[in-house]
Amino acid sequence: MSTDRRTFLKRSALAGATLALGRSALLSFSKTAGTPNTTGNPMKFRFYPYTLELKHVFTVATFSRSTTPVMMVEVEQDGITGYGEASMPPYLGESHATATAFLSKVDLSKYPDPFRLEDILRDVDAIAPGNYAAKAAVDIALHDWLGKKMGYPWHRIWGLDPAKTPVTTFTIGIDTKDIVRQKVKEADIYKVLKVKLGRENDREMIETIREVTDKPIRVDVNQGWKDREFALKMIEWLATKGVEFVEQPMPKEQVDDIAWLRAKSPLPLIGDESVVRLADIRKAIGVFDGINIKLMKSTGMHEAYRMIATARALGMKVMIGCMTETSCAISAAAQLSPLADYADLDGALLISNDLFSGASIVDGKVTLTGMPGIGATKL
Ligand code: MG
Repeated sequence: MSTDRRTFLKRSALAGATLALGRSALLSFSKTAGTPNTTGNPMKFRFYPYTLELKHVFTVATFSRSTTPVMMVEVEQDGITGYGEASMPPYLGESHATATAFLSKVDLSKYPDPFRLEDILRDVDAIAPGNYAAKAAVDIALHDWLGKKMGYPWHRIWGLDPAKTPVTTFTIGIDTKDIVRQKVKEADIYKVLKVKLGRENDREMIETIREVTDKPIRVDVNQGWKDREFALKMIEWLATKGVEFVEQPMPKEQVDDIAWLRAKSPLPLIGDESVVRLADIRKAIGVFDGINIKLMKSTGMHEAYRMIATARALGMKVMIGCMTETSCAISAAAQLSPLADYADLDGALLISNDLFSGASIVDGKVTLTGMPGIGATKL
């Protein structure tokens, strides 16, 4: 918080110097090319760390944890506040410290027109490599601000039908039989389950779930299977158990093995860890049938939208996923969800200390609020 305040005060001082410049730039812009509909006052930018508490200890093939660090971001101009969020599961390498260091270098006060998202986000991306979640937080906050300024939610700005949001999966982590049964009961309203595999008890997990429900299952291996022959046997078995597709069956480095597997697999394969940003999609051609797009990987909504268009052009399926996130980042991802075949947007449901209300799950389906921007409200 103290770093945040120091940065903010420093920026406020700088803002005084840029204010005059901003206004004169705006005036000349108004005369030549129409009004950008902002006052030209510098955009304020602040951020603060927060820790999400998970309802259950969450275990996937590579780790277990009970909290997730996030960084909340706010931009403010013309009396409108835009909200953004960086969710940083530790295995991805970002943290409160890295996000603080990165976000301290973001200076939005130098842009007289926040509508120039292309320029602003390109500059933010160029500040440092990596930091995808921190970049996403800035992107989401700007989208929220712009949408609120225009008075529309982003699904409307993009021309999407809110009735076309997909059903979302509810994720069942790797756990004991009793806990798995309990989680399946909790997932009552969901029409599709997502099951994390990639450890010794894979068959037991699926069999335990099949004892209590016949709902369709989507499997996420999180790179857990190292041997392609073993992976193929598992997928052939899963195909007999009502499984729809398999996400990231093998490590991202084993590209040739995954391509081999895809050629023989009776189920579609979806890339997650293998496909982070737009430029990674070319590596997925012939390797995956679809990709899992997450705002925390794609650096936000702007690039995620382009990833969807690119995947579609290549005939790939699109899944929109999430990390454990508050309803802030989940609502942002939900704006894109009418474009997706599959959604895995249960991140806010897995936590006990949400900071926002927004996109919700009604009868298992992602449901947008119709409110402007990302459609989320700070609690
Ligand atoms: Mg995944």
